[in-house]
Amino acid sequence: MADRISVMLTEEEIDARIRQMGEEITKDYEGKELVLICTLKGAVFFACELAKRIDLPSQMEFMRCESYGNSDTSSGNVKLLLDLDQDIAGKHVLVIEDIVDTGRTLSYLMEKLKNRKPASLKLAALLDKPERRVIDIKADYTGFTIPDKFVVGYGLDYAQNYRQLPYIGVVEVVD
Ligand code: 5GP
Repeated sequence: MADRISVMLTEEEIDARIRQMGEEITKDYEGKELVLICTLKGAVFFACELAKRIDLPSQMEFMRCESYGNSDTSSGNVKLLLDLDQDIAGKHVLVIEDIVDTGRTLSYLMEKLKNRKPASLKLAALLDKPERRVIDIKADYTGFTIPDKFVVGYGLDYAQNYRQLPYIGVVEVVD
């Protein structure tokens, strides 16, 4: 039987918030150029919508990390599967992430990027689950702070399904 999905954030709520975030980012980086880094796969929907709302010259790059092993025991179990095409030294870089959960993936990624000496490095996340945090990391721009629930939609998957949903919801598994 199909899983039931209860809506947590509607498409309209998400779009309105992304529009606000875009305006804020546009203001903060006035007169500058940006390199937007979308993390695959989950952030792709958010990154496209946000990029459209940032009224600045910008370039779009993609990275992909994978967590492996027992995520409850170590903070080092992340590896890079896809890297940037360009050198970011001296550039203003904004990482676009779907969700900050434990913070492990992002702390790995941000550290890697920081070592490449960008002029600035910030983070925009659509969702934040602060209750789950293991590593102290905070996005500079956060769409929504949500409770500790496993969410899908708007790029986020459950076993690679549901990414295409235009809203964010919680899966209720039906047997
Ligand atoms: P972290 O390293 O912060 O624990 O995990 C970040 C990654 O875990 C996210 O980029 C996302 O892919 C995945 N993740 C964390 N929480 C959720 C969730 O509620 N739903 C889905 N679909 N993925 C999640």
